[in-house]
Amino acid sequence: MDERDDRQPELTTTLHDRSYYGEGSLIYPVLSRRVSGLSVGINTSPSKICNFGCIYCEVDRTVEGGIMKFNADLADTQLRKVLTDIKGGSMGDQPIKAITLSGDGEPSSLLNFEEVVKRAIAIRDEFGLSDAKFVVISNASGLHRDTVKKGLRFMDEHNGELWAKLDAGTEDYYKRIAQTRVPFNKVLTNILTTAKERPIKIQSCFMNVHGEMPGEDELKAYADRVNHIIENGGQISAIQLYTVSRPPAESYVTALTETQMDKVAQVLQGSTFVPIEVYK
Ligand code: SF4
Repeated sequence: MDERDDRQPELTTTLHDRSYYGEGSLIYPVLSRRVSGLSVGINTSPSKICNFGCIYCEVDRTVEGGIMKFNADLADTQLRKVLTDIKGGSMGDQPIKAITLSGDGEPSSLLNFEEVVKRAIAIRDEFGLSDAKFVVISNASGLHRDTVKKGLRFMDEHNGELWAKLDAGTEDYYKRIAQTRVPFNKVLTNILTTAKERPIKIQSCFMNVHGEMPGEDELKAYADRVNHIIENGGQISAIQLYTVSRPPAESYVTALTETQMDKVAQVLQGSTFVPIEVYK
């Protein structure tokens, strides 16, 4: 899961020019619309390996990953450097709104998820940034893992939030979009179980596939999935709706137009009571 698709384009160049923001860096500051400001991302998959192969994925896998394995010590060092630089004014007077565990793969696949979360939160607090949210952006495939459950519980007590991805309503569409061996049912069960313990946000990317946006039946099936989670005790505070904004993995994937995004939002607003945030 990656939030870099969400960055504000006019500031991208400035951020890219930072010496620490390059191939191999585990830390990437971005101006993110979804956190309404500056977010400092931690890339948990520098090898660019992911258990999903989303057709809209923006991770450039034509360029090899710089470091093969996530190194928590290196991440700590780089995070401290970036936070020191930002606090010193390297990004102007932008306050840090969030520290985000995401990047070029799936954070819930980390063997030591709990440890990584605890270390990053400790550094956030050490820098006097406990008001900044600690966000995990996940495709939900590993939310059942023990270390992830423990990490999420720690986050619950330390201004944390989970954003879980759900891009489909039917199994067929899910398989078409996610290109993964992780069963759809596992993702849905993980989202429900996790959302029973705390409110979460759902992130949903919709797009044109071979020039076709998701049909009304697919969108209604998606809304049914969301409603099923709510009816069974899951808490979803919002759906973040967005489309492709950078070159996707597959060339037959294109962004929805504003009119198409409005149409998607309209269908979903009529089919679920969950608040929808639209990022065009
Ligand atoms: S979950 Fe999908 S979008 Fe996120 S990094 Fe993996 S392949 Fe890319």
